[in-house]
Amino acid sequence: MTTEDQMTTSEQLFEKAKTLMPGGVNSPVRAFRAVGGTPLFIKSAKGPYLYDEDGNRYIELINSWGPMILGHAFEPVEEAVREAIQHSFSFGAPTRKEVEMAELIIDMVPSVEKVRMVNSGTEATMAAIRVARGFTGRDKIIKFEGCYHGHGDSFLIAAGSGVMTMGSPDSPGVTRATAHDTLLAPYNNLAAVEQLIDANPNQIAAIILEPVVGNMGCVLPQPGFLEGLRDLCDRHDILLIFDEVMTGFRLAKGGAQERFNIRPDLTTMGKIIGGGMPVGAYGGRADIMNMVSPAGPVYQAGTLSGNPIAMSAGLAMLRYLNEHPEVYTRLDTIGEKLTTGFRSSLEKLGLNFTINHISSMFTLFMTDKVVTDYGSAKSCDTALFGRYFQSMLKRGVYLAPAQFESLFLSTALTDELVDEVIRANEEALGEVMNA
Ligand code: PMP
Repeated sequence: MTTEDQMTTSEQLFEKAKTLMPGGVNSPVRAFRAVGGTPLFIKSAKGPYLYDEDGNRYIELINSWGPMILGHAFEPVEEAVREAIQHSFSFGAPTRKEVEMAELIIDMVPSVEKVRMVNSGTEATMAAIRVARGFTGRDKIIKFEGCYHGHGDSFLIAAGSGVMTMGSPDSPGVTRATAHDTLLAPYNNLAAVEQLIDANPNQIAAIILEPVVGNMGCVLPQPGFLEGLRDLCDRHDILLIFDEVMTGFRLAKGGAQERFNIRPDLTTMGKIIGGGMPVGAYGGRADIMNMVSPAGPVYQAGTLSGNPIAMSAGLAMLRYLNEHPEVYTRLDTIGEKLTTGFRSSLEKLGLNFTINHISSMFTLFMTDKVVTDYGSAKSCDTALFGRYFQSMLKRGVYLAPAQFESLFLSTALTDELVDEVIRANEEALGEVMNA
């Protein structure tokens, strides 16, 4: 048994946290259940680095699960927050910043004509399907196995991310009636979607998906998949919802919809949009968004929605991205350099693991199968991933603590740091494969 003074500060904090909070954390994946060991308790972060309570420094490849696209504590965002806090923290009343924020989002995201701010990605997706149901007068939605859309009841059916690694695809507490209205299809399988539509005529309000999946690891839409969904939705008066909580403002200024040139009816956003503050948003066609209260009958509200501090951080972040298109070229370059390095290490070591990659999102899957959906993602050796994760941590690289997650790069990652990560990856793979 380890005595208290032999324990690291993170270990001590985790022991205490477990007595106070479920599993010791405020969000499941943070507990390191999928990789073993003790979660690091983070004290601070700057640029490309995280610092834990024991004074260790790590290179960041997860960046708060996406928001810190320009690195941690990015000065223009920090400055905007410092300025904003002088004027109180919340009014629960309209502000100029909300107007500026809405204008900027509508300018940046091709399909968004009207937008409503909320406090998280979960709130955004819950509201979006309520609006879709209100607009179409239909109850059912189609979601894809392995896509995660937050923890709203309707989405905890074969969900990805933590739900996938926790092995509880159907959470207790979600009623059968709710589950009944969520129809499931395998990602990248248009025929399955068509069958569901045929079997449920005039009953499907919306198809919701991650246009590039981050939550079963990074999985790309196969050519024609997004176009095919758009076409099916048009033919059957179904709304197409892109959940761009991860991809929004990351894969391009206007998200995956800009990169793949597909126009969804509704879009959900989060993460980057708040610059690291708790912010989400949903928006889309004006005729649909005009259904939202008080313009229309679909109710949705929030005491802290459009919070002035959160809006200030988000505005500073989005303005920077809007005015610096070179950010996206740089993210493409870093992602390419890193994954090319990883691929050449795999070749050198004689491993044929799969790497899925687009711009600053990628996953190294511990499987030799091509990963295009939930079924193929699940062929991964998750125990091996756990050992690889620990080996990378030992080398000062902080990955997502689970196989079924995408990594997110930031512009704070210099070429030298990319080389350091490539070296660490090669050593870590060598170590775990020879163990
Ligand atoms: N949608 C997607 C695609 C996500 O990745 C997430 C969170 N990772 C959510 C929705 C939920 O967002 P939040 O955690 O802010 O509630």
